[in-house]
Order: sequence, then structure tokens, then C-alpha cells
Amino acid sequence: MSQARFTSCIPLPLEHKSLVGVIEKAKDWALMHGVGMRDRKNFTKDAIQIAPFVLLPSPFPRTEFNKAVELQQVLNELMHKVAHDDDFLEHTLQNALQVDEFTANLYEIWVKVRNEGIAQPVSLGMLRSDIMLESRCPHTENQCAKHTPYCSWKQVEINSIASGFGHLGPVSREIQSYILRQLGYADLIKNMPENKALSGLCSGIIEAYDLFGVTGSVALFVVEEVSYNICDQRFHEFEISETRPDIIIYRKTLNEIFEETSLNDKKQLMLDDKVVAVVYYRSGYEPAQYPTQKEWDARLRVERSTAIKCPSIHYQLAGTKKVQQALAAPGALERFLGAGAISGRVRDIFTGLYSLDFDDSGEKAVEMALADAERFVLKPQREGGGNNLYGADVREALLKMRHSRERAAYILMERILPPLVSGYVVRPGGPVPPPLTDLVSELGIFGVIIGSKNKIYSNRQVGHMLRTKLADADEGGVAAGLGALDSPYLLDL
Ligand code: ADP
Ligand code: MG
Repeated sequence: MSQARFTSCIPLPLEHKSLVGVIEKAKDWALMHGVGMRDRKNFTKDAIQIAPFVLLPSPFPRTEFNKAVELQQVLNELMHKVAHDDDFLEHTLQNALQVDEFTANLYEIWVKVRNEGIAQPVSLGMLRSDIMLESRCPHTENQCAKHTPYCSWKQVEINSIASGFGHLGPVSREIQSYILRQLGYADLIKNMPENKALSGLCSGIIEAYDLFGVTGSVALFVVEEVSYNICDQRFHEFEISETRPDIIIYRKTLNEIFEETSLNDKKQLMLDDKVVAVVYYRSGYEPAQYPTQKEWDARLRVERSTAIKCPSIHYQLAGTKKVQQALAAPGALERFLGAGAISGRVRDIFTGLYSLDFDDSGEKAVEMALADAERFVLKPQREGGGNNLYGADVREALLKMRHSRERAAYILMERILPPLVSGYVVRPGGPVPPPLTDLVSELGIFGVIIGSKNKIYSNRQVGHMLRTKLADADEGGVAAGLGALDSPYLLDL
């Protein structure tokens, strides 16, 4: 079966002169509105370069978009409940903890903090559920090809730490609106859904700050040693500074937190003689961000403190791939969402997810993947892109670790096959004009949830982002240079 295809929102290809002209304008628009990143090759804090972006918005069925938006609050609540279910986390992660040192270190901090007594029962979740349309369909091929080039969307993963693109999501809509206006298609902009992700996410930080309620306290962003995706962090700071000039934001690496913070006798996290109210992690999700024991000690100190964390360490654990897989097992969703229709709605968004534990079902999963590796993605307990295995690599890895305990640290997931669309990707240093290529998209829906184990104070859906990559690329991280910024163009099919 050939891969399904959407028609682009305007007729393509564009005429050469018009294409070159609009790209030149769009690049300047990008630089002047923060559609940018720092250059990895020639790093300097004095300049940003354009972030890769797709020239025109990518089609996405309106009904599927609305379904994703509507489900977000349920997913927020699900994550919140999972994060607070100690038994479920322990049971789900136990095998992976034996072989995955990084997850085990996180888990150890969680256990330590719990045993000491939790100083701050409230957590701030700023989540992003990533989804792709699935073009393979259980209906007959003709039906689908004729009526819709998609079937429904499936969840790729849910992120509970450093969920990026709160700024780059909304600004992608703005740059593509500008491009459509320049090309004479201003009337199409009405099909691009409003996106207030930046203010929505920042409202979570502000609300947590107010809940903390200590006058003169500060917010702390935990950042990487070098932030390439700087626009997507600074705009959060600018937004908060404008809305709430009283909230001062610090940016610190884990190493700086180790050196510069302390806990006082009330377990308040102190920085520059100020109490830290909210800690927002934009780093701390991968092993390389903890190069020494100091970074782990810093993480433990923050977790021990009264600061409201985004995420708390149990939220980070709830966002692991292993938990996602365990939630797809029979009965798991019902444990958190009850036996009614809501569990069914969430189950519908899962594609095949399989454990590789050493038991019957793990063995079956290995057999299944070896028989048809192209159908699957093999995922370790990692975030941040570039860690998964695809196609022939799935087979090779499984053959290698079939009899080793290491395999329990992975999950097996059915590969989603999204519909294609033709488009132009504008890249820094790339050819002008770029070639017309086949692209596929991944939509992320943002959610904010604030609460403790027994009380949810706020729960809302706050916006979206769309990332698009070449159809034949396995992964599409924008910061990693593979994907490109995009925004949805809603279709009424
Ligand atoms: P990470 O935590 O590293 O972001 P993801 O699970 O999001 O891990 O996978 C990274 C990327 O790999 C996704 O953004 C998507 O492009 C691709 N991918 C992951 N899972 C699937 C899948 N089941 N089907 C198709 N593509 C996938
Ligand atoms: Mg991801």
C-alpha cells in the first residue's frame, strides 16, 4: 500500500522568483521575531540564526486536532495520578531500574525524598503529548484512500520534563501567516488555529509562584551548560517579566545550583539570599546533563526543598517510556481513570506498545519484532531525541541483547506511518530555494496541571506545536537539526 498523502494548502511548486523572494522576506521575519536558534558549529552568544522552518503550514484534519485538544486534560490528570501512585511506579520500573543507571538514579532520589518526608506536596506539570496521524487503516484501502488519507492519530509519547516549543510553536503560526499574506493567500489564515502556548505555559509557572506565596521569592530555570534552543527559553522569561514584573527569574545549570544554592532549616531552597518558589527544568532529562556527582547532588537538593518543581522527580518518572508502555497493558488505564468511556478514549490513542521483560509476553514481543523489524521502534528509557532504534537496527539490537538483562530497559512500539505532504523546508545555510520534498508531521499538545496527591488546583490545555521532518527521516528533533518548525492547517474532510 502506498503511503497516504495530503494536498498542500496552496498549489505547489511555487514559481522560482516568488519562492526565492518570499524566503528572503521570511528569513528576516524569523530573525526579527525569535524564530531562531544558536549556531552549534560556530557558537556565539552574540548572534542567533534562523531555526529551520517549513514554508507553509501542514494539513491536519480539524476533527483529529480537536480530539487531541479535548483529550489533553484527561492526559494531564492521568499523568498526575500516575506520578502519585508509588506502587505503580515501583512495579512498572522495577526491571528497568536493574539495568538503567540513569532511571535508577532518579528513582533513588524519589525514594530518599519520600522517606525523609516531602517538603512540597504540590507539583507543577507542564506536559506535552506528542501525536502522529496513522495512515494505515483497518478499513479497506479504497475507502481510506478515497475519503481520508489518514485514519486517526496515535500518541508517540508524553513529555513531562522540558517540554519545549512554548514560544516556537505559536511563532511558527505567525511566520507562516506572514508568508501566506506575502503570497496572496491571507484568506487561508483562518484555518490556522489560534495558539497561545507561551502565555499558557507561563501561566502555570505564575500560578505555582502565587501558590507558593512568599513575597520576594524567585523562580529558577534549570538550563544546560550551553542553550542552543535559547529563543524557546528566553521568551518564557520575557513573557513572565511582562505579565509579572515582580517575579525575578534566575537561570542556572545543575552545577551552578550545586555551588550557589543551599537549604535552610525550613528546607527552603536559597539562592542569593532569596527563597526559590518555582524550579522549571529545561535540562536534567538525560545522563550527559549529570556529568558528575555534583549535578545529582544538586538535583537531590532541589527535590528536598519546598520549591514547587516542574517537574517533581516522580513526574519525570511518570514520563518514562516504560510507564507509557505499562499504561497500554490491560486494566492499567482503568486503575487511574475508572472503567468508563474515558479509559476507552485514551486506549484508542495508543499504538501497539510491548514490554521486553523476561516473561512470556516479552519473548513474544521479541519474536514479533525479529519477524518484521520495519514495523517497530525500539525505545530505551531516554528523552531528548536520537536514542531510538528503527528498522534493521531494531533487529540487530534485539539479536544482540535477547539473552541479556539489558533488554528490560527498552520498550517496543509499533511504528506509526503518517500521511505525506509536499513542502519546502528552509534551513540555516540551506539551498535557496530548497527542493520540494515529502514531509511528515508530529503534533504536540501542551497541558498544565498543578496539584498534590489528593487535590488538583488547575488542569488545562494550553496550546500546541507542530514539528515536521523529511518523510524518510526516522526522527525529527528541531534542536537536533532534523525537524523543522511548522503549524497545522486545519482541513474539513
Ligand atoms: P524522545 O523522548 O527522544 O523525544 P520519542 O518517543 O518522542 O523520544 O521519539 C523521538 C522521535 O522518533 C519522535 O519525535 C518521532 O519522530 C519518532 N518516533 C517515535 N516513536 C515513533 C513511532 N511509534 N512511530 C513513528 N515514529 C516514531
Ligand atoms: Mg519526543
